[in-house]
Amino acid sequence: MEMLISRNPRTGSVLKEIPKSPTHDLPKVFERAARAQTLWSKLSVKQRAKKLLQLRETLCRRVDDVARVIHEENGKPHIEAYICEILPAIELLTYFAGIAPSKLRDKKVSLRNPILRYRKSLLTYAPLGTVAVISPWNYPFFLAFGDIAVALLTGNAVVFKPSEYSAQVGQMIQDLFDEAGFPRDILQTLMGEGDLGAAIIDQKPAKIFFTGSVRTGKAIMKQASQYLIPVTLELGGKDAMIVLPDADLDFATSAALWGGFTNSGQACASVERLIVHESIAKPFAEMLKEKVLRLTPGIDLGVATMDKQKAVYEDHLKDAKERGAEFICGGIMSSDRTRMIPTLVGGKGIEETRIYNEETFGPVIAMTTFKSVQEAIEKANRSEYGLLASVISTNMALAEEIARELHVGSVMINEVLFSAGLPETPWGGMKDSGFGRKHAEMGLYEFVHVRHINRPAVGLLTFKSLWWFPYSEAQREFFRSWIRLYQGGVFEKLTHLPHFLWSMTKFLKNEPRL
Ligand code: NAD
Repeated sequence: MEMLISRNPRTGSVLKEIPKSPTHDLPKVFERAARAQTLWSKLSVKQRAKKLLQLRETLCRRVDDVARVIHEENGKPHIEAYICEILPAIELLTYFAGIAPSKLRDKKVSLRNPILRYRKSLLTYAPLGTVAVISPWNYPFFLAFGDIAVALLTGNAVVFKPSEYSAQVGQMIQDLFDEAGFPRDILQTLMGEGDLGAAIIDQKPAKIFFTGSVRTGKAIMKQASQYLIPVTLELGGKDAMIVLPDADLDFATSAALWGGFTNSGQACASVERLIVHESIAKPFAEMLKEKVLRLTPGIDLGVATMDKQKAVYEDHLKDAKERGAEFICGGIMSSDRTRMIPTLVGGKGIEETRIYNEETFGPVIAMTTFKSVQEAIEKANRSEYGLLASVISTNMALAEEIARELHVGSVMINEVLFSAGLPETPWGGMKDSGFGRKHAEMGLYEFVHVRHINRPAVGLLTFKSLWWFPYSEAQREFFRSWIRLYQGGVFEKLTHLPHFLWSMTKFLKNEPRL
């Protein structure tokens, strides 16, 4: 049996060997999921929401075990497992269990057109079926857990593939749902690498919820297009922080510090580009450097979770050095090669470097300056990515004006990064950062099929519609006249009314509908 090796990225030691899921079993996995989903979808939304709250209890009870597994396998500081993975997961369960029963209730839609008032419309929200959740390793718990919870709440079954770098956390997620009493096979966690993810797509899930790199996102979309499977893609970022000249330096540098170095910079929404007003750039860089040097490895900073990411770090550092960038601090790997020393880089030509333009996904901030607000906006928007941006200022009106100009999914004013942890607000990107939204009401609707039902307002009001066959001159005149009466201004309405009444009488006296 082939195994996935779960390793401690700090020491390289083997934590656990986990059997890989064989691809030949996939048809059976999807059959089991479909059977489970048929029963699960018959429960009311309220009943499923209740299950989510039981899951919250289970998670609260197991909080220390979950945090330990995340910390050991991912290499992030222990405290970040609580703050950035478990806390937002609990918040998400509470929020969605609360809103789902009302948001997924049938919704009446009133029809505007007076000649259609004898009919009514309603929207119903049906589960999609069996959906695939394919997730990354950097927030291995929260991202997958949230997608799975909302997918199940909305009545779907889930086939879940965690990253091969976070298999143990993936297994922990399955255990939590099992312990909370979710029915057998409603969630099935499969262990493997990218080829398993691709094989899952060949089973034609009803939708793919993917979080990961741009490269994989493109491959998934290409493959999904063969079967017309809808996808939501939560991809990478190269997020900018704009610091205006009126910003409080101590506050602004602390924001950049956490935004750039939490999770050792391995966050899609990390502050990777700093755009600071030229008048404060020097003291800003000095203060930030001083704070960076005070970060303690092992307490504030974890290690690089994925070995192969280190090659990206080295390529970006090499390119920046070759182009003459100025390293304010860091710029090298640690002597044991488990991490990059936290790096602040700037200087002339920085905007041409890979470290400024491409996702490094490590503890690095590339800094440039601006003269005018317009220039800051243009620089922030000059990126292939569009996930999140931050603006730091004491002038809220100006900061908000800037926020409205930024080509990103979320803007945080005087805050950084954590927007994805707010379940009440939509999360997602534009440009290469992907599309689709999770969280909030619109995120809930990503997991359902919206069905429109149109029916007579009262059963007895069933008669042949005015636009049905046979077509006639009188019918044409009636509709022509109706458009002028209905859409015209007050004068048009008044002067046209007699003609409309005449055309209606003529039409209604005409031969009956076929
Ligand atoms: P990745 O794309 O390498 O892998 C993500 C998942 O896709 C893994 O489970 C992997 O096994 C699977 N996969 C790989 N190839 C596949 C294929 N051909 N078909 C199906 N599945 C396949 O990404 P990663 O290195 O795990 O994660 C880091 C990336 O994720 C970064 O770019 C980061 O910015 C991004 N990310 C985005 C968000 C967001 O919300 N926008 C959140 C976290 C991470």
